[in-house]
Amino acid sequence: MPGARDDYYEILGVPRDASAADIKKAYRQLVRKYHPDANPGNKEAEERFKKVNEAYEVLGDSQKRTQYDQFGTVGDMPSGGSPFEGFGGMGDLFGDLFESVFSGGAGRRRANPNAPRQGDDLEMGVSVTLDEAATGTKKTVEIPRWETCGTCGGSGAAPGTKSETCETCHGAGQVETRQQTPFGQFVSVNACPRCGGTGRFIRTPCSDCGGQGRKRTRKSVDIRIPAGVDSGTRLRISGEGEAGINGGPSGDLFLVIDVAEHPDFKRDGADLHRKLSVTFPQVALGCTVSVPTLTGEPELLEIPAGTQSGKVFRIKGKGITRLRGARGTGDLFVHLSVDVPTKLTEKQRALLEALAKEMNVEVADQGLFAKFRTLFGG
Ligand SMILES: [Zn+2]
Ligand SMILES: [Zn+2]
Repeated sequence: MPGARDDYYEILGVPRDASAADIKKAYRQLVRKYHPDANPGNKEAEERFKKVNEAYEVLGDSQKRTQYDQFGTVGDMPSGGSPFEGFGGMGDLFGDLFESVFSGGAGRRRANPNAPRQGDDLEMGVSVTLDEAATGTKKTVEIPRWETCGTCGGSGAAPGTKSETCETCHGAGQVETRQQTPFGQFVSVNACPRCGGTGRFIRTPCSDCGGQGRKRTRKSVDIRIPAGVDSGTRLRISGEGEAGINGGPSGDLFLVIDVAEHPDFKRDGADLHRKLSVTFPQVALGCTVSVPTLTGEPELLEIPAGTQSGKVFRIKGKGITRLRGARGTGDLFVHLSVDVPTKLTEKQRALLEALAKEMNVEVADQGLFAKFRTLFGG
């Protein structure tokens, strides 16, 4: 839909004055929601996933965001929009005028369609566990992509034959239309309809690729996911995108990471949080407990006598390594929770009743309840 652009703020569901942290948070939530792994075969989710990434590429970068806020578009967006696109194609209008004036009506030369071009970038989602995100991991991903046809070597012509120069455009790949107007002669240049702008015509197409010069394949690629990735992290795998055209270099593969929830550990950037259950005597009298860590050996934690429930202990350096070793490793925060037993032995009950009496606090008279139960058969 030309002219109408998606509102990146709307896509991320944030107000225009949202902080960078709010934008990042909204992005993470949406990436998780629309991640292809969470929505297999759902085209709409896939589309949303792409849009969310496109929006974050701009709003997540303060420089691009400023440009977007000013012009409604960003120069080097994935779609290649110009800053003038929002103003009804004025860029094109200027282009045509300048060409007519300065190039003597020769028209704009399109880039040579037979020149080597870099293949498109690919993007796909990859799910990892929190453990894998913390230590880094290796994965094999299956990428659907175009590859240069091995049968014709990318030319598109059947082996033993060659493509010929297009007779309609004489190899130029484009045709010019001249138009007289009161302002002078306007020249419009369009792709040649016979050869589709390539300037070459294939009489006997390669049967393997149907004359396209490349084929749709699935390729397994071994990738290394570095320690410290988080949901929404984009990894660039150089040269693993679509095959290049006319012998150009391949595009890049972008992997968007989704980190699965962990049952015990919650992540906050490089820090980890976990709950640790202890009993009343342990906090009342003090103790040493063993705290499981995410990836290493358990840590011993000293709990002083009289520690209150809800107290948070910090174990330094037992969080997650920051991505690519930047500024070290996060910490592990242990949230203490004093558990109340739901079942008591006779002896435990007697001891607690004695404790209550010693502390001079009222407790339910269990002996009385027991009597009622016997009387009424409860
Ligand atoms: Zn072929
Ligand atoms: Zn042609």
